[in-house]
Amino acid sequence: MAYVETLPEDVVKRKVMELLRKFMGKNMTIPEPTGMIRSTWYSNPYTRGTYTFDNLLVHEYPNARAILGEPLVDEAGSPKVLFAGEATDLTHFSTVHGASDSGYREAMRILPSSKI
Ligand SMILES: Cc1cc2nc3c(=O)[nH]c(=O)nc-3n(C[C@H](O)[C@H](O)[C@H](O)COP(=O)(O)OP(=O)(O)OC[C@H]3O[C@@H](n4cnc5c(N)ncnc54)[C@H](O)[C@@H]3O)c2cc1C
Repeated sequence: MAYVETLPEDVVKRKVMELLRKFMGKNMTIPEPTGMIRSTWYSNPYTRGTYTFDNLLVHEYPNARAILGEPLVDEAGSPKVLFAGEATDLTHFSTVHGASDSGYREAMRILPSSKI
């Protein structure tokens, strides 16, 4: 987080697009983004990082966290870009153990026969 926040916006944007295109494959056309919004919560001495929380509208969007954690899939439906992180954990969001659980969840998505 600390390092990424020091990088110029065009570098972050280029790297993110490189990664997306690499994982989604040559057959998928991914257009250039029209803009980018990023946080600098780590550099802010009053926060030094952040985590998600449910606001008062959460009942209108009960599946928001599950949707955030859905992978991007290729034409065959195979997951190519996976999303972990505390924000995608349905029960222990905002916490380290939620972040950790979400990592196991995504590992199991691509390694269904592995025993963790
Ligand atoms: C002040 C504070 C106190 C906390 N105290 C507790 C506590 O006591 N107990 C507890 O359980 N939880 C606590 N938390 C919450 C916990 O730290 C987080 O929930 C957890 O770290 C989230 O992990 P994560 O992997 O989801 O996200 P992060 O740890 O935020 O990891 C995200 C990663 O993505 C990287 N990244 C971001 N953008 C890009 C990009 N464009 N390209 C490449 N990489 C990128 C960042 O560099 C970072 O390494 C606290 C958080 C804060 C801020």
